[in-house]
Amino acid sequence: MGGFDFDLFVIGGGSGGVRAARMAAQRGVRVALAEAQGLDGLGGTCVNVGCIPKKLYSYAAHYAEAFEEARGYGWQIGAAALDWAELKRRRAAEIARLNGVYDRLLRSSGVTVLSGWARLRDAHTIELATLNADGTPGHQTWRAERILIATGGTPHVPHFHGREHVITSNEVFDLDPFPQRLVVVGGGYIACEFASIFNGLGAQVTQLYRGEQILRGFDDEVRHFLAGEMRKKGVDLRLQTGVVAVHREADGLHAVLEDGNRLVADAILYATGRVPNVQGLGLEALGVAQGAQGAIVVDEHYRTNVPSVYALGDVTARVQLTPVALAEAMALVDHLYGPAPGAAPRSAHYDLIPTAVFTAPNVGTVGLTEAQARERYGRLRIYRSEFRALRHTLSGSEERTLVKLVVDDASDRVVGLHLVGPDAGEIVQGFAVALRCGATKAQFDATLGIHPTIAEELVTLREPVSRG
Ligand code: FAD
Ligand code: NDP
Repeated sequence: MGGFDFDLFVIGGGSGGVRAARMAAQRGVRVALAEAQGLDGLGGTCVNVGCIPKKLYSYAAHYAEAFEEARGYGWQIGAAALDWAELKRRRAAEIARLNGVYDRLLRSSGVTVLSGWARLRDAHTIELATLNADGTPGHQTWRAERILIATGGTPHVPHFHGREHVITSNEVFDLDPFPQRLVVVGGGYIACEFASIFNGLGAQVTQLYRGEQILRGFDDEVRHFLAGEMRKKGVDLRLQTGVVAVHREADGLHAVLEDGNRLVADAILYATGRVPNVQGLGLEALGVAQGAQGAIVVDEHYRTNVPSVYALGDVTARVQLTPVALAEAMALVDHLYGPAPGAAPRSAHYDLIPTAVFTAPNVGTVGLTEAQARERYGRLRIYRSEFRALRHTLSGSEERTLVKLVVDDASDRVVGLHLVGPDAGEIVQGFAVALRCGATKAQFDATLGIHPTIAEELVTLREPVSRG
């Protein structure tokens, strides 16, 4: 393309940016990708400070229970102790390995990988703030036919006195020393996951949520059930509670609560949502339309109101999940450059997005909550079972499991499936295929269970607990 250095310039080396760059380069397109954190940042939030290190810590946390439960099976186990420094070191080494894998994948696909902070100078020009070989600041200018913004999001901490003393999920992975007393503020994915993780790792965790129940947007029964299970495992979950100020005192950080009480902690984690990474990108000067909190507004093909500029993933603040950013990237590449030979063009589906919350126990869900289904379909059948899993008959654990199906009475289609229990994400992934295929309750009933498992409960629910 005359006058352009690249056909596609991708800003951001996270889930969406890397996938779009690789797929486009594989179609023979000249692609550059700029990552502000350099090669160490490749993989973005998910790889560096999100899904992957979080899941590794979640595995680490589960061992505490496993050691206890093993005694119920006759194992003689001495006192187990966590080496937090070793866990952090091993996590960091694995993340560095993944950064290298991403770098190699990009380069082997033919993508030009650039390090530096990118901003848009005009609809086809990108200015990259870089470092010169001698360490002094420098800049490069590149021209591209199309620009894709995939800059993700960043944690949002509300304003209050002492805000500078709290941390976010970006800092939590490397806390030093291990926080024996942790306060977590928020009731969403990140707050619930880290409350569970640090509780499992041995911290005394207090979770404060401003609303009536954690995990707003999830099925109400799931929310209540999970709150109960988290409390049983030791998380001091306090609802309708907020922090008005934080002070650093000799004995730790003091969180002053709305009711005047104080909590003393070694660390206070704010997990109060994320905002799009748009600062300094030059969007206002270019006139790129933005919505709430700066989210970039795009059409169904991820195009902004500036025809050569596209955006996807968390920076568009639609559904902030890695598989969604990946699906959007593949849909965009197919739309712009055509599908892979012999394949049909892909598009991202925003209904039936399966998701898991990696709490203890896990939550897995796909489809509608009971309340959403009632609004959409009216007459429903609800199937539910709550039980103690076979494993815990000997383990001594009091953990219970919840499975729930929401069925549209008229069509018999299963429109919502919810599970709170071990490996819920692993189980729900398979059922998500069934729901995408429009499976009916009769087809669930015709499916044999695998005995004895937790998952078999989902195909052996016979009598609705409510109808209408
Ligand atoms: P990102 O992955 O955030 O990538 C954006 C990249 O752009 C970053 O590397 C950033 O450095 C770079 N960048 C920003 N500005 C510039 C600039 N001007 N120039 C150059 N580069 C720039 N999702 C799941 O599906 N499952 C999970 O278990 C899960 N766990 C999570 C846990 C945590 C603690 C967090 C914070 C998120 C989690 N997520 C999870 C969400 C998931 O990480 C995001 O939805 C996903 O990473 C979004 O991908 P993205 O490509 O839009 O942005
Ligand atoms: P969420 O939007 O999930 O939750 C934010 C929480 O903070 C909510 O409970 C919200 O309360 C509360 N909150 C917001 N503002 C304030 C405030 N000013 N004071 C007190 N509380 C406040 O965001 P997260 O930060 O937890 O995670 C961001 C996104 O990352 C998630 O939505 C998810 O898409 C993704 N993610 C996915 C994971 C996974 O797939 N397992 C894991 C981690 C993150 P309220 O509900 O009342 O608004």
